[in-house]
Amino acid sequence: SLRLVLRTRVPFKPGRLCYSSSSVPTTKLFINGKFVESQSSEWLDIHNPATNNVIRRVPKATQEEMLAAVDSCSRAFHSWSETSILTRQQIFLRYQQLIKDNIKQLAKAITLEQGKTLADAEGDVFRGLQVVEHACSITSLMLGETLPSITKDMDIYSYRLPLGVCAGITPFNFPAMIPLWMFPMSMVCGNTYLLKPSERVPTCAMLLAQMLQDAGAPDGTLNIIHGQHDAVNFICDHPAIKAISFVGSNQAGEYIYDRGSRNGKRVQSNMGAKNHGVVMPDANKENTLNQLVGAAFGAAGQRCMALSTAILVGEARSWLPELVERAKKLRVNAGDQPGADVGPLISPQAKERVCSLIQSGVDEGAKLLLDGRNVRVKGYEDGNFVGPTIISKVTPEMMCYTEEIFGPVLVVLEADTLDDAVSLVNRNPYGNGTAIFTTNGATARKYTHMVDVGQVGVNVPIPVPLPMFSFTGSRGSFRGDMNFYGKQGIQFYTQIKTVTAQWKAEDATLKTPAVTMPT
Ligand code: NAD
Repeated sequence: SLRLVLRTRVPFKPGRLCYSSSSVPTTKLFINGKFVESQSSEWLDIHNPATNNVIRRVPKATQEEMLAAVDSCSRAFHSWSETSILTRQQIFLRYQQLIKDNIKQLAKAITLEQGKTLADAEGDVFRGLQVVEHACSITSLMLGETLPSITKDMDIYSYRLPLGVCAGITPFNFPAMIPLWMFPMSMVCGNTYLLKPSERVPTCAMLLAQMLQDAGAPDGTLNIIHGQHDAVNFICDHPAIKAISFVGSNQAGEYIYDRGSRNGKRVQSNMGAKNHGVVMPDANKENTLNQLVGAAFGAAGQRCMALSTAILVGEARSWLPELVERAKKLRVNAGDQPGADVGPLISPQAKERVCSLIQSGVDEGAKLLLDGRNVRVKGYEDGNFVGPTIISKVTPEMMCYTEEIFGPVLVVLEADTLDDAVSLVNRNPYGNGTAIFTTNGATARKYTHMVDVGQVGVNVPIPVPLPMFSFTGSRGSFRGDMNFYGKQGIQFYTQIKTVTAQWKAEDATLKTPAVTMPT
């Protein structure tokens, strides 16, 4: 029952808002267990980033449709939250198997809309799948606490209970993983869920919804709406929605955090990044250079954990030419082509932005060691390709350092000592991820303790935590106080009810009222 998007060729007009009467396939809404065509008069084009052909259209859901979706979530909440935890667990056990069985199909849908290579798209699904597998441990994760005999015949215990309707707003760069960070954890706790996927890559979320339905999730437990600002504002304002998970840029994330919190909702907001890889001169050179190149240019640098900034410490400065040689060897191609290492950027606007940030580095006095701006990909001349780019002699004031580039661009800074490197990293406004490359345990330990960043890798370039831990982030990269997945994820999606209960034997029943504060 899973359908993949069709390749349809329609002339490309960037950013065009169009109307629904057309032969291009449309993305449905998922409301109360049905995939329904939107009645909206406003639609957005979705392009294949390797060709810029229009492949699909996505609606901006109408107010009535959004209301229908949230009402469906509200109605489903009562029975879903009362459904036995073992039943919920069984649904997610079936779900993880369905995702595994369809990983290639999901990856194809991701590559078509997002552009990343098929192998990388499978990784995107796989990292989300791990969260679903973790959600299947809910029978342990949701355990409350008990303390027996706090006084005579009296016990105290707490339950973890769902909140109600929760909502998620996701970015374009991980069409599978990030939605899967959200609704499975929330739903397995007994919440119902309203998802607004990125309007640029909605198909993977629709396939995931279909699989969840096939796994047995009742109608209304997951609803999906599409759109941009109006849909986001609707989620921030609707009183039935109790919690919002957001992943994306700072511009949107700070706004959603403020607006959602002002309306009394829990909000967790994972945002932008500028991740530094600190290279010590004692590091294993071969390993480190390969790790840096893979983590800077993989997914065309469009990962929030991309290692987009290298700090070469001391003698490690001399490794630059070899770094450039390795980066040159990466093959830039459409994501579905065999051997592709670096796919296209999401849009012509993204390409333009990345190219102008590269130019800003040149204009501000940095040195362009490898320039990917004029890359030509045979057969895909209209795609949004930028080849691996390395800029050295970068200083902290330059725009190519202060901005998140989100493209296949590695900016290189230098430091004399580990302390200098730490202070550079901690002065940067973002605190998403970082890595240190060294063979010295004491150096690694000092770095991990001193650095104010959420995810730290030691000889691991992209330290995205497994789901039994939480994906964190500090300073400008995160707002909220409970992180995604892991123990914190369960806390975010549940509230605690504490029960103090006394069961006295018949002969111990109180004979007079107790008017003083119970102690
Ligand atoms: P984005 O902020 O443009 O879009 C994310 C979502 O917010 C989309 O659903 C979009 O419709 C909505 N949105 C966009 N602009 C908005 C606005 N002004 N007001 C309200 N809603 C808005 O992000 P993106 O370009 O899709 O994703 C890339 C960004 O996401 C990068 O900054 C990247 O670092 C970040 N990211 C962070 C993490 C993390 O865990 N920290 C993970 C992945 C991506």
